[in-house]
Amino acid sequence: MVNLLDFDLDALSAHCEQLGERPFRAVQLFRWIHQRGASDFSHMTDLARSLREQLPSQAHVAAPPVVSEQASDDGTTKWLFDVGGGNAVETVFIPEAERGTLCVSSQAGCAVGCRFCATGHQGFSRNLTTGEIVGQLWFAEHLLRARLGLAPGERAIDNVVMMGMGEPLQNYGALLPALRVMLDDHGYGLSRRRVTVSTSGVVPMIDRLRDNCPVALAVSLHAPDDALRDQLVPLNRKYPLHELLAACVRYLDAAPRDFVTFEYCMLDGVNDSIEQARALVRLVRDRVSCKINLIPFNPFADSGLQRSPRERVTAFADVLQGAGIVTTVRRTRGDDIAAACGQLAGEVRDRTRVAQRLARGTIPLLPVEPARR
Ligand code: SAH
Ligand code: SF4
Repeated sequence: MVNLLDFDLDALSAHCEQLGERPFRAVQLFRWIHQRGASDFSHMTDLARSLREQLPSQAHVAAPPVVSEQASDDGTTKWLFDVGGGNAVETVFIPEAERGTLCVSSQAGCAVGCRFCATGHQGFSRNLTTGEIVGQLWFAEHLLRARLGLAPGERAIDNVVMMGMGEPLQNYGALLPALRVMLDDHGYGLSRRRVTVSTSGVVPMIDRLRDNCPVALAVSLHAPDDALRDQLVPLNRKYPLHELLAACVRYLDAAPRDFVTFEYCMLDGVNDSIEQARALVRLVRDRVSCKINLIPFNPFADSGLQRSPRERVTAFADVLQGAGIVTTVRRTRGDDIAAACGQLAGEVRDRTRVAQRLARGTIPLLPVEPARR
């Protein structure tokens, strides 16, 4: 049985061809699935009868089963999807006045092991398939449309951020067709500017994304220098800041927006001093066109870290803004249901030693000397 959510339109056309069908049949089928949320082939009335009859025995349309749904007081909704083998991943819908954003997971767990991230602390089990990535959007979009009573053609989700569990650029093979489904006019028809891949900095894959499917790019920076970033984002040891920033500059040649967003998680006493704000200005200004998004740290059990006080976040933002860098502070959403950035944990059967290493403190975090505060 193949899951048709695994296919972008090209792959679906190839599949239909194998069944002896003409390519335009794939477009019809793709539209039924993604634009109308259909999974029952017998309802797809304009499909050739031959196709309608062949499909049920060899294909299905299936998102991962939903284990639970939680709603936050602020309207944020979080779903837990069972992806088998004891793993479950989370997806978050964040309604705003002007738009609806879906935060999508790319892996069960994450192998990068960032010091401040709940997913990183769980270790890594496996990559999600394209169908599991697309399935999160397919499920949420059509459920929300029905719930909100939207008219045909109106959509609930117009913004997708690959900021759920996992490092999307360490699952490039499955990510790429998923992005194509999101962008396809016969699929979700999302604007490239409204599909964001967030990465901790997998340099060669930033280049591939630029060549294959440029969408909005967010890069998790979190530190103004390699010494601190090595500790917070272990991938920095492989791809240090000068390589990462050079990749960002190359990306901008093809990007749908003329800036990269740098995410910077504000950790009390770790990366939030005025001096570090100035170092950040020196690092990025005149080098890469960017906006900086400061994210107040969202705590989780045993993180051993604390959120920077509000005044420190404001003072940090003032330094960046004073230097002419557009800076925003991300509003915390859904933290009452552990749906805020970095709190997604799902269930992960760790198959690496990341979780153990973090627990044993072999990925330690050195305290910042008071002089630097
Ligand atoms: N792996 C990708 C995308 C998922 S994380 C990445 O790292 O970019 C999405 C964002 O949440 C990243 O910027 C990440 O650094 C941030 N984040 C992780 N843990 C966090 C926490 N506890 N509090 C606030 N932000 C966090
Ligand atoms: Fe992985 Fe991103 Fe979490 Fe780092 S912040 S552990 S890259 S999900």
